[in-house]
Amino acid sequence: MTEGTDISVSRRAFLKLGRRADPDVLRPPGTNAALLTEQCKSCSACIDACPEQIIVAGAGNFPVLDFSRGACTFCEACADACPSGAFSKDIVPQWSWKAGITSACLSLQGISCRACEDACEPRAIRFRLALGGKSEPVLDQHQCTGCGACAYQCPAAAVTFTRVEPNKEEDPA
Ligand code: SF4
Ligand code: SF4
Repeated sequence: MTEGTDISVSRRAFLKLGRRADPDVLRPPGTNAALLTEQCKSCSACIDACPEQIIVAGAGNFPVLDFSRGACTFCEACADACPSGAFSKDIVPQWSWKAGITSACLSLQGISCRACEDACEPRAIRFRLALGGKSEPVLDQHQCTGCGACAYQCPAAAVTFTRVEPNKEEDPA
């Protein structure tokens, strides 16, 4: 009897170990890898609730944000829909993902494009003249909300996202 219980417990622990959410993946606002690993039942309620349809099932069937489908409005419909405690309204304000623009940017290659600047409501992206008559995108991380609108509109998939801790935001070095 005791042996059977031990086997069942260790099997549960083993299954849990095999389903760990990756902390370096964009999650819907209000949740994180630790909460998902502990609480998410992969029921798809958050996926179905998102009016922007930008939540998809990722590795381990945990929800991830896909900015190639649209931008996040931070409406919290996903958090409201979750029945399992995998979201916490307390961590919505801690959303610390910020956009960055890679060398794939068309403008950096001399092709006229301002799609990201046009998409950015808080005006976090500006362009300045660079060598050779090119325009270089400059992103103000303090203004960036991490909404993904620029990534959605970028025709070159040149926008990436990284998590910026508050102290690093002050001093990116
Ligand atoms: S906050 Fe709203 S728009 Fe953003 S992922 Fe959740 S449901 Fe979708
Ligand atoms: S993620 Fe949103 S706020 Fe940040 S630069 Fe892109 S459009 Fe602007």
